Amino acid sequence: MNKPLADAASLQKPFKQHVIDPETCIRCYTCEEACPIDAITHDDNNVVVDPTGCDYCMSCIAPCPTGAIDNWRVVMEPYSLDDQFGWDELPEQEDIGPGDTGSSAVEALDEEMERLLNEAHAGAGGKSKPPASASKPSVNLFTLGKPATATVQGNYRLTSETADSDVRHIILDLGDTSFPVLEGQSIGILPPGEDAAGKPFLPRLYSISSPRDGERPQTNNLSLTVKREPMGVCSNYVCDLKKGDRIQVTGPFGATFLMPNDPQANVIMICTGTGSAPFRAFTMRRQRTMPDADGRMILFFGARTPDALPYFGPLKKVPDRVLEKELCFSRATDSDKEYVQDRMRRERARVLTLLKSERTHIFVCGLKGMEEGVDGALAEIAREGAFDWPTLRTQMREEGRYHVETY
Ligand code: NAP
Repeated sequence: MNKPLADAASLQKPFKQHVIDPETCIRCYTCEEACPIDAITHDDNNVVVDPTGCDYCMSCIAPCPTGAIDNWRVVMEPYSLDDQFGWDELPEQEDIGPGDTGSSAVEALDEEMERLLNEAHAGAGGKSKPPASASKPSVNLFTLGKPATATVQGNYRLTSETADSDVRHIILDLGDTSFPVLEGQSIGILPPGEDAAGKPFLPRLYSISSPRDGERPQTNNLSLTVKREPMGVCSNYVCDLKKGDRIQVTGPFGATFLMPNDPQANVIMICTGTGSAPFRAFTMRRQRTMPDADGRMILFFGARTPDALPYFGPLKKVPDRVLEKELCFSRATDSDKEYVQDRMRRERARVLTLLKSERTHIFVCGLKGMEEGVDGALAEIAREGAFDWPTLRTQMREEGRYHVETY
């Protein structure tokens, strides 16, 4: 597989070019970190792949939370880095004439790539599509070179003072700036300062935890759920922000992990810790705009203890009619260790009923490590209903009903 590095003029023609979808990319830069040969880079606008560097090793595919990385174009002349930096959306596959995409070099590459891609997608993640009923998102309106300024409206601790994690609810006021967001999207926050190499810190990405019309209806603000990480540059910056501080934000990002607008859609939400952020937004949206929706919403939410579970109090107050809550704890003193996948198994009958419905969407958000366990639980539950889970998962993903965003 590993072809030698080449300059653009000497690349085999037609050439299968690895490209990143700027609309679904959430600028988390995990692909850039995962690339062993530094073939992925970014400017103020986009994250891009160097056609003369990429050796199709696929190391970047699995870590990508959205599948934006998994895009390919067969071209006679590769798109340059400058071309890619300028994209707002991916160009269509161009017609490259008779034989089209089928030169023997490309075919041989295809076969090997398919094998590697299957390996990379072996887990629960993979290329995803937005729910058919989701609103059209705006993406990348504010960039590294042209960020928006937001003012901190509030910073509240969500976990008890005795809990070993400090998780914050941060409210950002956008003032007069038009910053349209949808439930499920993320924003970047630019921490001030430079890294050890003297480069400005990269923005860190946070899911928006408020609905599109703000913390309260018709307010031009949004909220985030941020956990202080001991050595985290951005999380400490954000968790220490005071009311009135002004900060630089980028985004919005994300065009697939979006709330279905359909009141009949059933939504299974599975999360750990701060991965609950988008599901707070989903729940508030449904409660605000369609409280009598026929579709069910179930939340499987795992944390170490009740006092470490973000939004524990407010969540309990959401009526069961709107949200069926399955909160489970891995280190509570009065109960056995339980992960979200254990609770899903316990509630298998309810999950299976929903899996059988073509109106059911599954969203998974939180720790990367839970993907495998959640996937295993879904496979077991599906088997009881005589479904083959990998087949059903692929079908759901293709229909915009299966979404994973884990880091
Ligand atoms: P956390 O407090 O470290 O963990 C939450 C719970 O998950 C704990 O009960 C933990 O149990 C359990 N857990 C650990 N391994 C698990 C596994 N393999 N399967 C199932 N459950 C498991 O969570 P966190 O630090 O808040 O992390 C949340 C993650 O979400 C982060 O990786 C973050 O990057 C990601 N995320 C955050 C946002 C956001 O907007 N803030 C958005 C999307 C994703 P034990 O510790 O007892 O093992």
